[in-house]
Amino acid sequence: MQTITEIADLRAALRDAHQAGKTIGLVPTMGAFHEGHLSLMRRAKAENDLAVVTLFVNPTQFNERDDFDRYPRDPARDVRMAEAEGVDFLFTPTPHTMYPQGFDTTVIVRALSERLEGASRPGHFAGVSTVVAKLLNIAQADRAYFGEKDWQQLQIVKALARDLDIPTEIVGLPIVREPDGLALSSRNVRLTGEQRQAATVLALALGNAQALADEGVRNAPQLADGMRRTIEAQPLARLDYAVVVRPDTLQEIDIIEGGAIALVAATFGQVRLIDNRLLRAD
Ligand code: AMP
Repeated sequence: MQTITEIADLRAALRDAHQAGKTIGLVPTMGAFHEGHLSLMRRAKAENDLAVVTLFVNPTQFNERDDFDRYPRDPARDVRMAEAEGVDFLFTPTPHTMYPQGFDTTVIVRALSERLEGASRPGHFAGVSTVVAKLLNIAQADRAYFGEKDWQQLQIVKALARDLDIPTEIVGLPIVREPDGLALSSRNVRLTGEQRQAATVLALALGNAQALADEGVRNAPQLADGMRRTIEAQPLARLDYAVVVRPDTLQEIDIIEGGAIALVAATFGQVRLIDNRLLRAD
């Protein structure tokens, strides 16, 4: 594995690979790797000749300075883990490399960025969209891999690639979970033992929504209400939102037939967690 810090060097390495007819799979990350990240790397490696992982804790997508400072970082371990997965290039730019003096462009996917995570974290998706647009342009990959864990982000990335005519195929992969259902997240290491236990309420609420759907409940607000009550019953959870919406546009729906996604967010201590589940209605 080659670690690269400069944009020009990554471009040159990947241009040579492209000219040699090799396909490229890109995995953008903020590091502190866990099995969720590794699942994306494995798929990138399996479906392409070369896997490129980017590791950049993007300051512009943190709406709170504190959250940026506290974000888990373990670059030496990340290098070992990426190498063990057969990653070919690890791109680790500095903030100054990505945003040099005079940087003046923001990419905003408007409607999709307004609700849910966008409403709770002002400016977050502008930061995400801009950095992802840059990474897609730098790598010119055949495919780029994102987790369904960040469902709203995945829809936004698909929209920006479509709208800006970026030819990279955007691939979404399933959420990797702990045995008790908690979705893996770099932020999980910041939970206390008690909070870690309590955090299983998110997957529980989503599972309950599917169970109700299996029993024939089709009313989206009713399913969302059930999730809200489940999460509010957990004293260590501060609920942010619990909704059941259209999977692609994230617009409100009345009934879940035709496809729906349940999305939840809550804070445990100082740690904000999100989770989601596509609801089957068959
Ligand atoms: P992050 O480093 O948290 O920005 O995540 C990098 C990529 O890994 C994003 O596309 C995330 O959606 C994805 N990811 C994070 N957690 C998981 C998970 N538990 N399962 C699958 N993908 C994940």
